[in-house]
Amino acid sequence: CGIVGYVSRGDQERDHGALDVVLEGLRRLEYRGYDSAGVAVLTGADGGGIASAKKAGKLSNLLGELEQHPLPNSRTGIGHTRWATHGGPTDVNAHPHLADDDRLALIHNGIIENFSELKSVLLEKGVTFRSATDTEVAAALLGDEYQAAVDVPAAQRLTVAMQRACQKLEGAFTLLAIHADLPDVVVAARRNSPLVVGLGEGENFLGSDVSGFIDYTRRAVELGQDQIVTITPDAVEITDFFGAPAEGKEYQVDWDA
Ligand code: GLU
Repeated sequence: CGIVGYVSRGDQERDHGALDVVLEGLRRLEYRGYDSAGVAVLTGADGGGIASAKKAGKLSNLLGELEQHPLPNSRTGIGHTRWATHGGPTDVNAHPHLADDDRLALIHNGIIENFSELKSVLLEKGVTFRSATDTEVAAALLGDEYQAAVDVPAAQRLTVAMQRACQKLEGAFTLLAIHADLPDVVVAARRNSPLVVGLGEGENFLGSDVSGFIDYTRRAVELGQDQIVTITPDAVEITDFFGAPAEGKEYQVDWDA
């Protein structure tokens, strides 16, 4: 599938709006999947909440939905085009999937092999599910780990929750998540599935490949296997699934898009 993420300072004069960047990236990545498309943005300068929209079918269906029910063009957003593996190509099964009382949104490329075992554990804890996807199980697990990470300082809590969730996930996945508590953070993880960071000035990007952000920057960082990356407007921090610092490989994209 196609994955895009974006964070910026929220400087109206300079930054690109998150919704614009994400939709443009999805347009370029649409060849990777067209069962559905969806976006989530953090609303309000202080990250008041999460607003999302998703629609079965091509990206144009999502664009039609956004015309009817517009979302704010905020500082931070994620977007997905789906190639369905678990659960039919419906609106409900489209990504993003929400968790933690709809304060967390997650998108996923790949397959979570052990989703049914994880789902049983979460169901026993009282978590409810809306979709038939493996992805929603990853979202619920991340929400559960976020709630459990009370010992972790607020700024690192989503990153640590992602590390702890990834220790339990099996399969192939690229995951991107945003949380309403953190107005300018996107946390992503990668195992056996592609993920590239795009470096900007006061803004940073994520994509399943560089075409997701090629209109905005040519400086890219390729992640290694089993890595987590946290992007904010001014920083990119990479760790392994256990929190040890790691490094990606920076390179210049030199092809014409
Ligand atoms: N397995 C997930 C689903 O079916 C993600 C598929 C994809 O990579 O688009 O929803």
